[in-house]
Amino acid sequence: RTTEKQRNDQEPPATEVTELGEIFARQRAAFAGTSAPSLQERKDNLLKLQRLVEQNRLILVEAANADFGTRAAFETEMSEIVGTISIIRYMRRNLRSWMAPRRRSVSIWYRPAKNRVEPRPLGVVGVVSPWNFPLHLALIPAATALAAGNRVMLKVSEFTPRTSAVLKRLIEENFSRDVFYVTDGGGEVASAFTSLPFDHLLFTGSTQVGKIVAKAAADNLTPVTLELGGKSPVIVDEDYPIARAAATVAWAKLYNGGQVCISPDYVLVPRGREKEFATAAQEAARKLYPKAAGNPEYTAVLNERHYDRITGYVTEAKALGAEVITVEDPELGRSRRQLPLTMIINPPVESTVMTDEIFGPVLPIIGYDSDRAAEDFVNSRSTPLALYVLSTARRRQKHWLTRVTSGSAVVNDMMVGYLQNDLPFGGRGGSGYGAYHGREGFDAMSHLRPVMYQRAIFGRTGGQMLYPPYGKVADVL
Ligand code: NAD
Repeated sequence: RTTEKQRNDQEPPATEVTELGEIFARQRAAFAGTSAPSLQERKDNLLKLQRLVEQNRLILVEAANADFGTRAAFETEMSEIVGTISIIRYMRRNLRSWMAPRRRSVSIWYRPAKNRVEPRPLGVVGVVSPWNFPLHLALIPAATALAAGNRVMLKVSEFTPRTSAVLKRLIEENFSRDVFYVTDGGGEVASAFTSLPFDHLLFTGSTQVGKIVAKAAADNLTPVTLELGGKSPVIVDEDYPIARAAATVAWAKLYNGGQVCISPDYVLVPRGREKEFATAAQEAARKLYPKAAGNPEYTAVLNERHYDRITGYVTEAKALGAEVITVEDPELGRSRRQLPLTMIINPPVESTVMTDEIFGPVLPIIGYDSDRAAEDFVNSRSTPLALYVLSTARRRQKHWLTRVTSGSAVVNDMMVGYLQNDLPFGGRGGSGYGAYHGREGFDAMSHLRPVMYQRAIFGRTGGQMLYPPYGKVADVL
């Protein structure tokens, strides 16, 4: 028999799958029983979220560092703390205008009626988040759902247990479970979670799991936003200085140890300049991180499974005869999973480094013979989340942007498109569908209900002609 003391000493029980159904039913009932939350209530929720991030900065930095083994404190602060607060602030500032009814014109026969598109909350929104930015990618979708007046159930990643536990505790301390509920369960919980009949589901994660989630949601006709991954290419144009290109790519590739959904996955450079690019990137990486091993600013690969997966790409490419260039002996950082920048020159297109999303500090450098060849190279693969074009001439930038398909694009920089509060963010094809951030995010989690207001008494105007006895259609026209 377990005594009270023994029970208290035990770990709290893992979230029961049945609890999910109960919370869902409670949130639904609570939603149905009240009118849409006011502007002030929504702003209060957003401010509460903002404060809990601000006030727990150090605990969150520590938790992320422990989860990754090494996680640059600056990266946690910039991406998880500052990046989250900035978006929430932007939501608070713009919420009034997003919530306002949007006037639409009235078809001529029906004047003086009024037409409006009126955003309404959907109900209960489910959010599933990944491990690579465990706080930001959980809180921004959740904040968007709250801004749109919904209730939220969030499933955070089980692979960053410390950050997930802190986040869960903070949400529990600050929100009623009827408004915002968090679970950090693993596989069994994840599939039970995505089987709930949510009014909307926002999933951030891999393309593979995204397909499973979309199928589960289809059974409930739950609309889904899929924020997935993919291989985001960099196209370096003929005219662009190679050293500058290499420096930008080295920075972007190594941010968060390459574990970013919009990391540059591979680089296309004019044929013959692959080596020049690699040498310049090597130099740039050494400037950014004089050493990778033991450097507290160099974020580690999350776990052994991912480390083995990523180094496996390099071993395979070498075996297939591709040239590999590193910036430091990888053995030095092996025990801490700090893998230095590793470049592979022209790996065979069928090698796994060119078929999988890399999600780590390995960079294929591929020579292209013509514009057409570079376009085809990208367009013949699964549609990337981001496209990076490095080119000085406007005409050439346009050229690449019109010919190459992607979820989003940045010209002459990398990744920072994500930080633009007024730009939507989302993928296409293999990198997902739907978008959030900014007004588009608010809209994605709202029902944009069209409403026509006729006058109460002399209201039917043009509609009168629709009543029998009918005239001739020709007379109407
Ligand atoms: P993942 O797909 O393995 O897991 C994501 C989440 O889904 C986790 O919370 C996990 O518990 C849950 N999950 C796992 N199996 C499930 C199932 N059968 N049913 C329902 N849920 C399930 O992804 P990950 O490894 O955590 O994250 C890395 C991937 O996420 C990369 O592909 C990356 O590109 C992508 N990503 C995309 C974005 C974006 O905004 N587009 C942002 C970050 C990461």
